Amino acid sequence: MRQEIAEKRIFDQARAYAFDYMDGIRRRGVFPDQRALAALAAFEEPLPESPQPAEEVLRQLHELGSPATVAQTGGRYFGFVNGGIVPTALAARWLSDAWDQNAALYVMSPTAAKLEQVCERWLAELFGLPDDTAAGLVGGTSVATLCGLAAARHAIMERLGWDVPSKGLRNAPSWRVVTSAQAHGTVFKALTLLGVGTQDVERVGADSQGRIDVTRIPPLDSRTLLILQAGNVNTGAFDAFEEVAELANRAEAWLHVDGAFGMWAAASRRNRQLTRGLDKADSWSVDGHKTLNTPYDCGVILCRHRDALLAAMQASGAYLHYSEERDGMLYGPDMSRRARAVELWATLKYLGRVGVEQLVDGLCERAVEFAERLRECGFVILNDVVFNQVLVACETDPAMKQMLARIQRSGVCWYGGTSWQGAPAIRISVCSWATTSDDVEKSVAALVEARDATVTS
Ligand SMILES: *Cc1c(COP(=O)(O)O)cnc(C)c1O
Repeated sequence: MRQEIAEKRIFDQARAYAFDYMDGIRRRGVFPDQRALAALAAFEEPLPESPQPAEEVLRQLHELGSPATVAQTGGRYFGFVNGGIVPTALAARWLSDAWDQNAALYVMSPTAAKLEQVCERWLAELFGLPDDTAAGLVGGTSVATLCGLAAARHAIMERLGWDVPSKGLRNAPSWRVVTSAQAHGTVFKALTLLGVGTQDVERVGADSQGRIDVTRIPPLDSRTLLILQAGNVNTGAFDAFEEVAELANRAEAWLHVDGAFGMWAAASRRNRQLTRGLDKADSWSVDGHKTLNTPYDCGVILCRHRDALLAAMQASGAYLHYSEERDGMLYGPDMSRRARAVELWATLKYLGRVGVEQLVDGLCERAVEFAERLRECGFVILNDVVFNQVLVACETDPAMKQMLARIQRSGVCWYGGTSWQGAPAIRISVCSWATTSDDVEKSVAALVEARDATVTS
């Protein structure tokens, strides 16, 4: 290892670049311009034969990489459901990156194990879940859902006298999966990975807001996994947990909730009614990196039945010595893993219960402002704005694409396009603590400008 890698100078350099990036974030276009994109071609070099100077590596990354990033932290990015980043969480991540901990086992990182344990308790409390709810830290909700559904399969099969870890799926008893036609794509992906073909899923129709139609849920039984959603990616709508959980609990079906971004409504007094009955589920998947604004790579599987989760995620190897303390790898599919709990803990500690509530409520307020201002400007809003999502009707698909391209080129903000019940729409997702009312105003103006340009051209 060359000496300079251990020198602190390169960290000063990285810090200076990061500050330069942060300082410029509100002045630049949200999507990189053509020049910045074209410059990425300079990364296409042959693999260097010999070591390169560290300063040069960082310099190239900043000069080519930084301008071609999407300015997601600047407050005017409304694409997908991507969160911003709480500065304290970012700083905590810098520190923990210097630790380079492997959070697989307690003996590899007592700090990571302790923080995971604390986050587990804090999250159960914030979401109003049972005290002994288990939490596993994974890369995102996709993986969290995979874990929850694997735990469900394990528990259902166990009840039927079948041990999945030893017997696998060949000749296994049949089981059922019921979910809404509006379930997120990652739910179907997780099911596929678990050996449930998409054609075998019993899909229940949804209402105009994308909520599962309770009257059309087929009879449930103890062989059934039912998957609901807290926060539809288009409308932000929440399924009727109270009503459905009662059906599921009575039938002893396993109820999983995909709460990627919407689960956080449970942490806000003003929005909590959206999640009524959520605590009656068996497992929940949620992201830190969306609504909570932690850095990426922060998903959580929460499970009422610790044993089922651990059994579904089991691994063994002669060299693996599980401890009396918390061994994080038992709660998810990874072995070696970053100490994700550090940023999650830092964000929760920094914000506190009140700060989390203000963060959630702020996103919802900005979404309402968007809807109100857009209506005043003559736009039609397709959804009931119950959380952080706003769907703006567009006349035609080409008109939508033209408007989106124009806004993207302007650099003012970034919106995504979608199709809602067959109609083209612009999807606005307010997901960053950094978004102000002024950002909403500027972004509405960009949409008005794009519409007017589209109509006249
Ligand atoms: C984002 C999202 C997911 C996937 O989460 P990742 O963190 O991207 O893996 C799943 N479900 C819903 C409702 C989402 O919004």
